[in-house]
Amino acid sequence: MSAKEYIDDVLKFIRECSPGQNEFYQAATEVFESLTPLLEEEEKYRDYAILERIVQPERTIIFRVTWIDDAGKIQTNLGYRVQFNSTLGPYKGGLRFHPTVNLGIIKFLGFEQIFKNALTGLGIGGGKGGSNFDPKGKSDAEVNRFCQAFMNELYRHIGTTRDVPAGDIGVGAREIGYLFGQYKLLTASFEGAMTGKGVGWGGSFGRREATGYGSVYFAEHILNSHGDELKGKTCCVSGAGNVAIYTIEKLKSMGATPVTCSDSRGTIHHPKGIDVKTLKAIKEVSRESLEKYAQLHPDATYIPIHKYPEGGHAVWSIPCDVAFPSATQNELTLVDAKNLVKNGCKLVNEGANMPTTPDALEYLRKHGVLFGPAKAANAGGVAVSQLEMAQNASMQRWSFAEVDTKLFGIMKSIFETADETAREFGHEGDLLMGANIAGFRRVADAMIDEGA
Ligand code: GLU
Repeated sequence: MSAKEYIDDVLKFIRECSPGQNEFYQAATEVFESLTPLLEEEEKYRDYAILERIVQPERTIIFRVTWIDDAGKIQTNLGYRVQFNSTLGPYKGGLRFHPTVNLGIIKFLGFEQIFKNALTGLGIGGGKGGSNFDPKGKSDAEVNRFCQAFMNELYRHIGTTRDVPAGDIGVGAREIGYLFGQYKLLTASFEGAMTGKGVGWGGSFGRREATGYGSVYFAEHILNSHGDELKGKTCCVSGAGNVAIYTIEKLKSMGATPVTCSDSRGTIHHPKGIDVKTLKAIKEVSRESLEKYAQLHPDATYIPIHKYPEGGHAVWSIPCDVAFPSATQNELTLVDAKNLVKNGCKLVNEGANMPTTPDALEYLRKHGVLFGPAKAANAGGVAVSQLEMAQNASMQRWSFAEVDTKLFGIMKSIFETADETAREFGHEGDLLMGANIAGFRRVADAMIDEGA
């Protein structure tokens, strides 16, 4: 059986045993197809049935979360934790609270997390969790009660050497605080079983900034390898959450001009550069819509979401040199890719998880646009989470500068690993293939070493 037939067989098997899990199937297809050159060269992964094993989570926990809203009404949500792969270390990955969360979404994120975590070179396995709970529009007290109820079940499955959750969409500093507080009460122990904690209570300096800063460092490494740099570049960033905010902040400090950000209701275009202070005040403090940004900055334009034709997004119709999709999965479509190419975009660097659709990616590739794949470009967040675990375990506290220097080095090493691996297989410059092969090879070889 050829490598291609083996891959197609396993993908068919995934289709059959995970119906309706489209995002999971999309992620598995992207990873597996790019492994073709490795599997052609190496028989052992077939002999050890690695693909068949790696697509199945080691454990999937689905649980009911019951909580009481401010009106005294009982509410029920679903909670998930997919403990996907522990070959390299304790399961590690965020929790996502968003109404679109279902098993397929959590499995796609957990699957990506395995290889992302492997790429960091650190000792962390892959996991992901979350709930279809929507923190938007809820009071602090409601979010607190939901988090406590969620942790009432989750606590028995996590721990410093077992599974260490963190944040993701809808789970920021506030939610981590409520979740950690409940974990501490239930276990009667103060330990680093979650990351993304506040710097005053066990968190690491630089964790909040890590995904965004890391994404910018990765983009800079790509450009440097082509004799170019971010300085002086116009950049479009989507999203207005943790990743987008700190991508914008770092771009500005590196002399680039981030001209956009977006939320679920619209896009801001601010040609002179997004004002980070205003963005933080709106999104991190008062939790309002970006419409407010345009009220405070009359030279910025607010484009409501419905103002853009079907299949595309306003944020990618604005001319830029570098695009940083930093909102959510499949947010950069073929229509968007065509607009980016038409407007001369040189690099798409993925801050979110799987933000580029397969047809958009194909189009960007055909038109010579450089590409920073998510599992490499946004690995800075989870890498600094591991640094937080290390500080907690050794009861140490590193300065912001120490963590940031380590982050910069990790992003450089991820870039070099992906770049060298792509070259090793004769696909120079294909960082997606390089990242997938390098991440997979590390996990697969360890699976073989650890026995079936
Ligand atoms: N949710 C982030 C990610 O997608 C961070 C995970 C973590 O820090 O554990 O990688």
